[in-house]
Amino acid sequence: MLISAFAERARHALYTGLAETGTAPSVDSLALALGATTGEVASAMAELADAHHVVLEAGEVVLAHPFATRSFRFSVMGPDTLWWGGCAWDAFAIPNLVPQAPSVLVATTCPACETAHAWTVTNQGPPAGGQVAHFLVPADRIWPDAAHACANQQIYCSEACVRHWLTRTGNPRGYVMTLETLWRLAEHWYDGRLDTPYQRREPALAADYFRSVGLSGPFWGLPERT
Ligand SMILES: [Zn+2]
Ligand SMILES: [Zn+2]
Repeated sequence: MLISAFAERARHALYTGLAETGTAPSVDSLALALGATTGEVASAMAELADAHHVVLEAGEVVLAHPFATRSFRFSVMGPDTLWWGGCAWDAFAIPNLVPQAPSVLVATTCPACETAHAWTVTNQGPPAGGQVAHFLVPADRIWPDAAHACANQQIYCSEACVRHWLTRTGNPRGYVMTLETLWRLAEHWYDGRLDTPYQRREPALAADYFRSVGLSGPFWGLPERT
């Protein structure tokens, strides 16, 4: 979906602020920076939400992927900046996206058993670790409720913890991947997002990218690996 030139300026200012500080600039400060009214900025945010560049809750930005403005269970600590990662995918994407944070500490807890996990994640290659990521929502259903999808893209101790969590919550099994595959998924997904103009990737149309990072099956819009 095409967005207006002003919405693109607002998007770029929002993303620049999040990348540099870990927090979203206020509507007031965006209005000042863009020489616009707060009403024009609020309209631009609504336009960005309609075009799936951000997720709003009560008019406030809660997700500007890969950044979040509240906990989605992932902290991402860079050399100078602390971010909320929107999910497992997003947390692993931040060191690949933000030039001033080529190495970060990603921390979370297992949704099944609350065991704490942390990894040094860099832009050089996947971190060590035998944990697994479980994604609940298939790629073509991430939108419109991307906050729900992100909240359910989590890292577990093991396959056994994924099974315990699925049993406890009554959710169907989604897709389980290694940390290596998660990192490869995250590596280039958000390329260009801090630049302007930017053409976002649509998950429902990204089968080729998903295949290139080692994913397979209908969850990703792909045939099963044979
Ligand atoms: Zn996410
Ligand atoms: Zn666990």
